[in-house]
Amino acid sequence: MKYIDPHIHMVSRTTDDYARMAQAGCVAVTEPAFWAGFDRSSAQGFYDYFRQLTDYEPRRAAQFGIRHFCWICINPKEAEDPAFAREVIKFIPEFLGKPNVLGVGEVGLNKNTRNELAILEEQIALAVEHEQLILVHTPHLEDKLKGTRLTMDALEAAGAQPGRVLIDHVEEHTVGEVLGRGYWAGMTLYPDSKCTPQRAVDIIEQFGSERLWINSAGDWGVSDPLSVPKCHVEMLRRGHPRELVEKISYENPRAFLSQSPKFSLD
Ligand SMILES: [Zn+2]
Repeated sequence: MKYIDPHIHMVSRTTDDYARMAQAGCVAVTEPAFWAGFDRSSAQGFYDYFRQLTDYEPRRAAQFGIRHFCWICINPKEAEDPAFAREVIKFIPEFLGKPNVLGVGEVGLNKNTRNELAILEEQIALAVEHEQLILVHTPHLEDKLKGTRLTMDALEAAGAQPGRVLIDHVEEHTVGEVLGRGYWAGMTLYPDSKCTPQRAVDIIEQFGSERLWINSAGDWGVSDPLSVPKCHVEMLRRGHPRELVEKISYENPRAFLSQSPKFSLD
């Protein structure tokens, strides 16, 4: 069954992963800019990372028939030093013009600090000014609900349209409010944190399938680049129709991402 993995950090994955994903039906990925597992020592480190996302990864993915798109930003984990973050923000507009860049992301909050919020607000303003889609990272565990609300408040204060924003890593206690305020929501399928495939299917059964997608968020840590097709198996095992599986993992991401004129599966 063909699918889109709309949140995966392929820079941290091997070429064999692209091959296995293609065999499992993956036709496109979108890769948000995020933390590399260590803090970069200079703004130039981000510049080279953005070059990798916009130049090298699309070519590596294309060898397996997978379309590669990405999102550009300074992530919340490295936004605690505003002067440093603003050096990076200065060259973001240059990358927003690249052919595979769909918008600004994954922006958001990590520890819900004042500095993180200031840099988040500046990047939301940048996205609104450049008419970009926005992909939002939400904090872990006990910080998640508060961080999700702070982020939605900042988006609304800046005049961002909820239908052009996806709030990612939702869980049982945040998904209702995110959808209720008009945003799109992403469920991240991790082997032992965020949503497992089983919990994600529980959420679909409870909240329906409108404005909802699933992703692997595969990266350099404990994660699984094949978690989207594994969730397909769980949905089918429970007796859900193929149409629902396709809606969650292909039609919904296609509908959201197609709001960017650069997104195409041709
Ligand atoms: Zn991520």
